[in-house]
Amino acid sequence: MKYNEAMMVINTERALEILCFPTKKNGSYYYFPCPECGSEVSIRFHGEKKNVSYCPGCKKGNNIIAIAAQIKGIGFQEAKEFLLGKATAIEKPIEEELSLAGQLEFCQLIEQEGLNAELCQQMGVGKWKGKGIMAGHVAFTVHNEHGVRIAYYGLHIPDKKTKFPANFNPETYLYNIHNINLHEEVWITKDLFNCLRIIQSGKQSVCNFGLPYLSTRQYQFLSNCDQVVFDWSGDKRDIAYTNIASLKTFYRFA
Ligand SMILES: [Zn+2]
Repeated sequence: MKYNEAMMVINTERALEILCFPTKKNGSYYYFPCPECGSEVSIRFHGEKKNVSYCPGCKKGNNIIAIAAQIKGIGFQEAKEFLLGKATAIEKPIEEELSLAGQLEFCQLIEQEGLNAELCQQMGVGKWKGKGIMAGHVAFTVHNEHGVRIAYYGLHIPDKKTKFPANFNPETYLYNIHNINLHEEVWITKDLFNCLRIIQSGKQSVCNFGLPYLSTRQYQFLSNCDQVVFDWSGDKRDIAYTNIASLKTFYRFA
């Protein structure tokens, strides 16, 4: 497996655990003590910079494979294979129903995205009314594949910066997969608003929460569908991170 792909597949938490680092989680990052200087190193566990770390003490970036090589006193290739063998377990999805229920309202940003209020109501999407981490965001109700409501995923108004709770890893879910008829065509997009527009046009759509790649679990979900259409508008370089050829089903590009 190539370096880029390995970096996307390695589970950060599991890797740090088998390297015996004490860790803390906060937002999109894990934190662990630097083996060089003891400062608190941050490492992303999802997204484009997944498994890339930064030590504020050494003022130096690093990555999980190089760290494993250093800790274990082995070469880079060997460390990569070691982590691919031991640290690719898929995170367990949240199964408990979310007790929190936010009041959501239709807003200008949603309207500008070309969406109607009826669909938003049906999908549990709207501007968050009240306090908490979703304040100032358009909140999207997220269900696991069994249809259990497990989290809200937020896009900040107006810059669309993402926000979600610390126990939610976007790699573990596909937005709207619980509503999908597996025998009908399914569209996949990185953009939640685009996903809703596709649904509004009468098609089935899922979304990978803006990750520049598909996680192992997201591949599994799509492999259960008979026909998949990729609508990855925008930067096609993103798709380089995703090994689409490994998708075990019929697929095409929009
Ligand atoms: Zn350091």
